[in-house]
Amino acid sequence: MKKIFVVVFVLSIFSCTESDIIDDFDIAMAEHLRVRIASSRMYDGTNTPKYWVRSDTSFVWNTLVQKIDGFQYEEGYEYLIDVYKLGNQYKLASVVSKTRKESVVPLLGCNDFGEHSTSLFLPDGLMIDSMYVFQNDMLLTEKQYDKLNSWRTRSLITYNDPNCGYWQNRNVYYIFAPDFQYVTLAQQAIQEWSNKTLLNFVNSTGQGDYIEFQNLDMAGVLGLSNLGRVGGRQTIQIGSGATKGTIMHEIGHALGLYHEHMRNDRDNYVTILWDNIPESMHSQFLIPNYSQDSGQFDFASIMLYSSWQGAMDATHPSMKTIDGYTFGAQRTYISDGDSAGIASIPVYGPPIYKLIQTVENVQENVWGNVEEGEWDCRYTIKCYSDRYKTILMTLTTSKVVNLKIHHIVWDENQQRMVETVTTQQVTLAAGSNTYDIGTVHNIENYYMGNPTSYDVTIYEIE
Ligand SMILES: [Zn+2]
Repeated sequence: MKKIFVVVFVLSIFSCTESDIIDDFDIAMAEHLRVRIASSRMYDGTNTPKYWVRSDTSFVWNTLVQKIDGFQYEEGYEYLIDVYKLGNQYKLASVVSKTRKESVVPLLGCNDFGEHSTSLFLPDGLMIDSMYVFQNDMLLTEKQYDKLNSWRTRSLITYNDPNCGYWQNRNVYYIFAPDFQYVTLAQQAIQEWSNKTLLNFVNSTGQGDYIEFQNLDMAGVLGLSNLGRVGGRQTIQIGSGATKGTIMHEIGHALGLYHEHMRNDRDNYVTILWDNIPESMHSQFLIPNYSQDSGQFDFASIMLYSSWQGAMDATHPSMKTIDGYTFGAQRTYISDGDSAGIASIPVYGPPIYKLIQTVENVQENVWGNVEEGEWDCRYTIKCYSDRYKTILMTLTTSKVVNLKIHHIVWDENQQRMVETVTTQQVTLAAGSNTYDIGTVHNIENYYMGNPTSYDVTIYEIE
């Protein structure tokens, strides 16, 4: 596990009446600094441009509060400038470079794997494509972002908010942009989600609600995704260095999943080490107050950050298990917890049930012209979260399963077998994944190939 190393550079948040102090600014006494300044539109209710600053050697950008005397910045550019610093006063020495940056501030931070070197960190509220960045890789609509302003300090994985739609009828529509460079990886990621859930990923005609996979040309950012179904076209943007795991993670957001460590119950599983997280990153660890946990906390979740995400001091984690261990970010497969979490969202589930029939105590006898068979059948219902019925799912709420019971008997008067069908409801309790219906005794008797008695019960899930 590589650890992140983040240097925090903050121009002091000190307000002074710059004009009168700058008059006595002594350049000979001043410290010389080289800093980067960039502007972007940040969402803060006013939608006014914000300016960001970091030292040329640091990874973290901070909002620029302190005025730099003599420096005129223009929105949409990134500057490299030399400044003089004397106490809390700053004065422009020279502009080294000025580069057009559209609406995006490139911010260095760490990626999901806890590596910092090539990854950028996008501040919450940064505006991209009319959406607001949240936790580095989610793009929220204005309504969704507004909701977040009522953060509290506990959180969840999945999403149950009226402002975020789920995909309906388990169908998730998608399209690849004509120049999309990561089609094979994206297909593998889609296949994994498809195998491990009951969702259908459907090639879109580009109408209705759909995800467009696009290239992301922002050096160091691996992926961006809208949260949930936004309506109309929405995007999953994939950048250089992304893996199948990155794309699986971004698809998770598009399905409506937040990060795993934002679950409401996360404090039962992880300890957030707030002292090792710069204040500018605290929102990475907060919990939206309208979110709902789905399934159970899973350290193997594709949606969980690593222990080192956002850590200020490289030698210590930002998050560890409650018993003190660090953990990595699993990005190889959709975990059983992810699968169960998706299946327990009502529109993405319900989980599927499989009836398992175990035949026991078989006795077969033949006496001359008489053939007799007797056996017991044990019926068990098991609950699964994937279409291939391989991932057993422990239910978080009780579920009712409807059964059809076929009872087939030989009717002596009619000289034929008569089948009656009845129904039965059974309830699988929360916390369970199995229900034992019980054992039925079956008997067949034939004389010269013709039934003489017959009593067989067959269970079936409706
Ligand atoms: Zn994410």
